[in-house]
Amino acid sequence: MLRRNFLSLSSRTTGVALAAGALAPRVWAAATKSKPLGVALVGLGNYSTRQLAKAFNETTECRLTGVVSGDPVKAKRWAAEHGFAESGVYNYENFDSIANNPDIDIVYIVLPNSMHLEFIERAAAAGKQVICEKPMTVTGAESRRAIKACEDAGVLLSVGYRLQFDPNYRALMLARGTPELGAVRYVQADMAFPIGDPTQWRLRKPLAGGGAMYDVGVYCTQSARFFAGQEPVAVTAQEYKTDPVKFAEVDETIMFQLEFPNGTTANCTTSYAFRSNSVHVDYQKGVGTLSPAHSYGPIAGTLNNKELAPREFSQQALQMDDFARCVRAGVESEVSGLEGLKDMLVVDAIYRSIAAGSKRTLVEPV
Ligand code: NAD
Repeated sequence: MLRRNFLSLSSRTTGVALAAGALAPRVWAAATKSKPLGVALVGLGNYSTRQLAKAFNETTECRLTGVVSGDPVKAKRWAAEHGFAESGVYNYENFDSIANNPDIDIVYIVLPNSMHLEFIERAAAAGKQVICEKPMTVTGAESRRAIKACEDAGVLLSVGYRLQFDPNYRALMLARGTPELGAVRYVQADMAFPIGDPTQWRLRKPLAGGGAMYDVGVYCTQSARFFAGQEPVAVTAQEYKTDPVKFAEVDETIMFQLEFPNGTTANCTTSYAFRSNSVHVDYQKGVGTLSPAHSYGPIAGTLNNKELAPREFSQQALQMDDFARCVRAGVESEVSGLEGLKDMLVVDAIYRSIAAGSKRTLVEPV
């Protein structure tokens, strides 16, 4: 089993952790590869096309060397446009033969949520390192399976939690426990947008798992956990629905409150009905705010009444490069499968609370 590693971002990338003796053979194989590592995107929808493809213009540790798509014409066009061999083109049926492609080290899954587990398991069985988009799976039990599949295969698993690599988002986390600001007492996190097209997979439970909670509510669970620096022990959640036809299968608006062991609390809102995108962190001696908090950037805000410097870069490039460094060093990413599991355990508890009439509900421990 891979050693869990809690080294800081900078020390993780210097190869310090290579002293660990128990690394699995496939991680060692990747560690000896020269950079950049090759990445195959699975699913060429909006996020792959509009964000990840562009991010490869900024990555230095990895590059696009393959795609997996149900559309062969589109996939070949990607190969031509991004300059990789057509041997890097796969469809969902022959995907498993990616195992024999030495140009692909990392498989990045960008499919509808309920397809994530299947492709994590297949990528791991093919011996590839895995990045999976959020939400990692659609239940905590599925996340446990995903982690086990990667551990059994000796490959690393990470989640597309790009915000953890954004310096302005990170600044509020790093301020926690400093002499200037002290401990975090309260976090508020919102992420909501009015969803359009009523025929899209995001409104179909079998593909999406749930509604706004799965799609953008996980930004709130991430923010609450990231800024509180603790794992919530209990949750109380409320669901609101104004359009029972459009949202017949999935949730429209969910509000939830988290309780952390040290007494810190969080209050979060996610919705497909209206706009909201902010974070407020109350420390013992001051306040941090982000608005927008969860967008692709620039993330704007204040810390202790001082404005955070506006920064322009690709969060996705930072995230993918960090994972490539982790693969080469054979250490877990800060946004490992365990992070994905922790969020899914909170999401599970939120739905249990709603099903029980907004009852205070314990979060299953990891
Ligand atoms: P999308 O609908 O634009 O793309 C989905 C892709 O999956 C398409 O290429 C589609 O052809 C393919 N697909 C394969 N089988 C399918 C099926 N049975 N039904 C529907 N599509 C199928 O979606 P997207 O916005 O690219 O989202 C994909 C994943 O990325 C989701 O899990 C989403 O949560 C995640 N995402 C993450 C971020 C982020 O900021 N980290 C942003 C957007 C999306």
